[in-house]
Amino acid sequence: MKNIILTGDRPTGNLHLGHYIGSLQKRIELQNEGNYDKYYIMIADTQALTDNADRVDKVKNNIIQVAIDYISAGIDPTKVNIFIQSMVSELHEFTGYFMNLVTLSRLQRNPTIKEEIKQRGFETSLPIGFINYPVSQASDILAFGTTIAPVGGDQLPMFEQAREIYHSFNNTYQPKEEVFVLPKAIVSENKAFQRLPGLDGKLKMSKSAGNSIYLCDDSETVKEKVMKAYTDANHIKVTDPGQIEGNVVFTYLDAFCKEHHFAEFLPEYKNLQELKDHYTRGGLGDVKVKKFLINVLEDFLKPIRERRAKCLEHIDDIYNMLFENSRLASLDAKARLEKMKDAMGINYKNLLSK
Ligand code: ATP
Ligand code: MG
Repeated sequence: MKNIILTGDRPTGNLHLGHYIGSLQKRIELQNEGNYDKYYIMIADTQALTDNADRVDKVKNNIIQVAIDYISAGIDPTKVNIFIQSMVSELHEFTGYFMNLVTLSRLQRNPTIKEEIKQRGFETSLPIGFINYPVSQASDILAFGTTIAPVGGDQLPMFEQAREIYHSFNNTYQPKEEVFVLPKAIVSENKAFQRLPGLDGKLKMSKSAGNSIYLCDDSETVKEKVMKAYTDANHIKVTDPGQIEGNVVFTYLDAFCKEHHFAEFLPEYKNLQELKDHYTRGGLGDVKVKKFLINVLEDFLKPIRERRAKCLEHIDDIYNMLFENSRLASLDAKARLEKMKDAMGINYKNLLSK
């Protein structure tokens, strides 16, 4: 079977370490393996507007930011179609028909939506577009015949919804030929990386929560943020035994530290396990671990920052790439839209005798 990959991000801010570890890293791996027929990355501006209706400028300005973050992180726009969601207007048509296959109570049970409603204070002022975004996201996924999607853990309920719509469409319209493909989400095997915690140690790292280290942060900002990161509230004196679980500094080390970093920055320890053991026993201070993490992150972010600086000299080229890719994505979506309408029996041109 053909492999078609699709993922995306909302242009609500720059991309952060959570995006990298939860999804971007896998996207780059899949890109470099090259085992796909089509590969799309969607900048989900339409979805971003569902909770930012009055912040159009924020969404608009972040489209180019997210595109630059992709390229800086290692996405190659000659291998991957990076497009802008709102420029593929066919997606709205899919959504219009899919909405008839989903109940409101089903959407209200979606655990990610439930959490996001609370986080955004939408309990008594819930935009219909927002509660409906899993349906709209199912359109994005199904419209392109997506087989696999590397995503963070919060997206699993969205894929469940998309798969339900796939089945419901087939049951309702009994297409003679398959119109859609059953999509599968790929998440990191490491639970902590499916939902990298924010610097506060409470919520997931998220653009909307202000608890993120961004791929575009400069050295000074990274240093300040790491120094304030949550560790272990009971680890007060250096001699106190410390806790690794829930300690975001160690979670970030799990995600980004490589064995060679010890030889380079912290030669007293051979590997992360030795560092963790010392911290758990007591006698290792937070500052030392945080300084090590700063070095590790600097090593990771330096090449990304360098590529970003180059991108900034080619903004128009990047916009033109996005516009052209959106045109191509639109053609692909249109082809499947016609198939869908045929299957539903609403391609009225077929009624003409000739
Ligand atoms: P917003 O706060 O606007 O929703 P976000 O930071 O949650 O932004 P999204 O654009 O919603 O980012 O998510 C894009 C992709 O990145 C999704 O696949 C999502 O699961 C993944 N992702 C986002 N945050 C994290 C995180 N902290 N850990 C792992 N994956 C994440
Ligand atoms: Mg999100």
